[in-house]
Amino acid sequence: MSSAPDCIFCKIIAGEIPCFKLFEDERTLSFMDINPFNDGHCLVITKAHYPDLFAASADDLAAVARTTQTVAAAVNSAMRPEGLNIVQANGPAAGQSVFHYHCHVFPRRLDDEAMLNWGHNPGDMTRIEANHQKILAALG
Ligand code: AMP
Ligand code: ZN
Repeated sequence: MSSAPDCIFCKIIAGEIPCFKLFEDERTLSFMDINPFNDGHCLVITKAHYPDLFAASADDLAAVARTTQTVAAAVNSAMRPEGLNIVQANGPAAGQSVFHYHCHVFPRRLDDEAMLNWGHNPGDMTRIEANHQKILAALG
């Protein structure tokens, strides 16, 4: 499986950097975003390294779509947001900061005033971990 030496998500897949893991299968990995916009914000990534949507294989995109549905349902159940976006960025103007293919599972609140290019503010690790446990429980 392809990986890139300086890619932070490849390091997470290799176990060199920790993550709040939610779900894993042969082709995908899901974990909590450490700069969450709202509670429950998490990511679904391909295990293979692709810089963006354009490089990814159709089979891996399909696998990410399946995992995204599973994890989004758990986030919806655990966090009870008023809506949920799936966001996927390609290129700097789209707000892409990690060049390894991933989808954001992005819970929404009616008054959250989210913009597509949101800032990255460090999260409270205790709160992220508590949310991680809630969603893990919902995944069963
Ligand atoms: P994007 O800006 O669309 O490329 O999304 C990358 C996301 O990865 C951002 O929301 C970051 O907060 C998140 N991120 C970066 N490093 C890590 C990490 N080590 N663990 C979890 N999330 C991360
Ligand atoms: Zn990578």
